[in-house]
Amino acid sequence: MATLTRSEAEDRARLIEVRQYAIDLDFTGGEETFTSATTIRFRARQAGDTFAELRPTAVRRATLDGDDLDPAAFAEGRIALTGLAEGEHELSVTAAMPYSRTGEGIHRFTDPADGLTYLYSMCCMTESPLVYAAFDQPDLKAVFDVTVTAPEDWTVLGNGVATRVDGEPGRWICATTPPLSTYLMAVVAGPYHSVRTEHAGLPFGLHVRRSLAEHLDKDADELFDLTRRCFDRYAELYDEPYPFDSYDQAFVPEFNAGAMENPGLVTLRDEFIYRSAVTETQRQTRGVVIAHEMAHMWFGDLVTLRWWDDIWLNESFAEFMGYQVIDDTTGYEPWNEFAVARKAWGYDVDQRPTTHPVAPEPDAVPDTASAWLNFDGISYAKGASALRQLVTWLGEKDFIAGINDHFARHRFGNATLADFIGSMARASGRPVPEWADRWLRTSGPDTLTPEVTDGAGEWRLRLQHKGGRPHRLTLGAYDEEEGRAVLRERHTLDLPAADGTAEHTFPGARPALLVVNDGDLTYAKVRLDRASRETALRVLPTLPDPLTRTVVWGSLRDMVRDGELDPLLYADAARRLLPDEPATALVESVIGFASGQVAGVYLAGRRRATALRLVGDLAAELLGPATTDPTRRLIAARAAIGAATEPGELRSWYASGTVPGGPHLDPELRWQLLHRLAVLGATTREEIAAEAARDATAVGEEGAARCRAALPDEEAKAAAWEAMFDPADRLSNYLFLATAQGFWHPEHEELLTPYVERYFPAATALAARRGHTLGVMAGRYAYPAVLVGKETARLTEEWLRDHEPVPALARGLVNQLDDMRRALDVRRAFGNTSAVR
Ligand SMILES: [Zn+2]
Repeated sequence: MATLTRSEAEDRARLIEVRQYAIDLDFTGGEETFTSATTIRFRARQAGDTFAELRPTAVRRATLDGDDLDPAAFAEGRIALTGLAEGEHELSVTAAMPYSRTGEGIHRFTDPADGLTYLYSMCCMTESPLVYAAFDQPDLKAVFDVTVTAPEDWTVLGNGVATRVDGEPGRWICATTPPLSTYLMAVVAGPYHSVRTEHAGLPFGLHVRRSLAEHLDKDADELFDLTRRCFDRYAELYDEPYPFDSYDQAFVPEFNAGAMENPGLVTLRDEFIYRSAVTETQRQTRGVVIAHEMAHMWFGDLVTLRWWDDIWLNESFAEFMGYQVIDDTTGYEPWNEFAVARKAWGYDVDQRPTTHPVAPEPDAVPDTASAWLNFDGISYAKGASALRQLVTWLGEKDFIAGINDHFARHRFGNATLADFIGSMARASGRPVPEWADRWLRTSGPDTLTPEVTDGAGEWRLRLQHKGGRPHRLTLGAYDEEEGRAVLRERHTLDLPAADGTAEHTFPGARPALLVVNDGDLTYAKVRLDRASRETALRVLPTLPDPLTRTVVWGSLRDMVRDGELDPLLYADAARRLLPDEPATALVESVIGFASGQVAGVYLAGRRRATALRLVGDLAAELLGPATTDPTRRLIAARAAIGAATEPGELRSWYASGTVPGGPHLDPELRWQLLHRLAVLGATTREEIAAEAARDATAVGEEGAARCRAALPDEEAKAAAWEAMFDPADRLSNYLFLATAQGFWHPEHEELLTPYVERYFPAATALAARRGHTLGVMAGRYAYPAVLVGKETARLTEEWLRDHEPVPALARGLVNQLDDMRRALDVRRAFGNTSAVR
């Protein structure tokens, strides 16, 4: 299959303009394929050659301006259109198209709970040609007229409101859309359960497969309430009215992303419809995703990037607005979670060799394969941090004025970074292009390292600034009084756009704790001076502002990753300080790092055992009678299960169906628990099968696959390996993921060592066979990341040197190698001695 290059897209956009897609989809033809009939009406501005894209199983009929196309015109996923005369044209293609099990194109899912089948489309970024014939690039917008034939008892949803055709059972017609980019076309079809309402004169809907109906019904009020709040807030901020005719949110199975911003028909992963208990942070994240996707209706859908070098502009903007609008309209405090989780993702990605500027130069994104790689922590979290810094600098009023200028100029069209910067500069009168050069065209985080000294009646700060971005940030100076941190004063500091050392003098004695970037308004790695670090490790939970505590925990995390703080000291700090930490999002994230990275990767042997014990002790304390908040108890139960090294307590919870004092074991917790028992060799195939029979759902199937792969015996590992990598490719995206998650564990090192070498050819072949999504998954989840060692690093290095995996996997391997080297450095820095007893 050919990959579209930027220069091909530019040529095509010069040659043609597209007027309309008329698409007719028939989903009544069996389990393997559906029929797609597309007519594209377009105009050539001059005589010339071009091509459309389609990736069919078989072409049934194809005509250009009424004449049959030569079958030789179809090759490599393209339809050659040669000798076009200037003027109007009509391309018609009818083809059998493959259903997918990887979440790309038209994904087909049969629910094990009741045998019902569900479909949904995912066209982003390059998968439209798996659904319909298309000039598949974002700047060739056209109106869409979609009709669908489906089994009679199904519901069909499209970008425009879908209605049944009178007298034709199973036939649906979707209202004509405004001009859309091809990657935004969407259709959802199946016996979905729907809840509908109306708001601001528009139909709103929520949809989910029937086996989750009761769980959607339970949360429908909350979801609609959130949706309305977001909608009203955007209506208040933006001059441009909501651009589409409806707002449906379909929660669909085995979805790869969090959600997708199809105009009028957002698709979201159906894990957001909870059948088991979740934490407040998870609930808040669902709200942020709803707000994020709605932000895209304007930024992304109404005004769309011209080429994929501006993915960040789409995603950073939606990410920023998603958090801001949830902050504005609900009781949640989402910026804490942003600081603790999303930004950590951004910093991690930004320190890898594969990092890139937030806004890459167009030449750095020469084709769609390279664009795919930029859906990462830079384009989302770092970009949103940069926008937050821009808003801090411009003020919200000018920022929104700039946005409105941008929408007005480019509505239903396409725009570039230069257009966006132009609108911001016009609205604010500030030198935004210079800001953009520093913030958006550079890569890597700046580092801010303070040094504090005492003088006579004053204290002096030397702030070393590595990296060239300008920052507006806050310094927080705290005193320690009776074991508590008390805010003395805050100072706003403007750091110039230059590498160097800033010196400042302040009256009074030196503070016990100095926090650089207090309130987390900028994006930079910040260090604590030695005395501040010691103070922090005593009084951290008493710092009054959760964002301050987040910055301090983030700094400690960074120091662990950089080999400057013993990982065991981090685990020990978590053990001592988290019981008094009021912000549950912070508790959740610090435990996650302590058990995932610290115990899972940065420590080995006795030190690893010590870290697991510390997490286990912490969890036990948090599960004590003093903790009544169900979210904290749930976080603690999950931590206890993950850190268990003996099966005794887990077995008794499993038998009684509850953690003493709560939570009760709901299906998700039961599977997590059984997975840990499997890792410890304390369950059997029979018990796993019995649990799967008890929970005969998709989650149950995934849970059972994860557990079977986690059994510590040769037969189990061999079976899991074959399921993942055998060319029969029987596993869906989700079942592949579950099996990969079950497979690798540091506890099984001996059993798994032979698989390290086998991984590279197997993953490379899989990624070449199964496309982008499985390529990403193979690199991210099926890699032996927990078998930290020079041998794993050497094999990865050699494979990358001597072979050429597809870009999605190659990027994954480069990142894994970098993480592996970092882990080896951290292990080397602190040896295998125990700093904590
Ligand atoms: Zn997005």
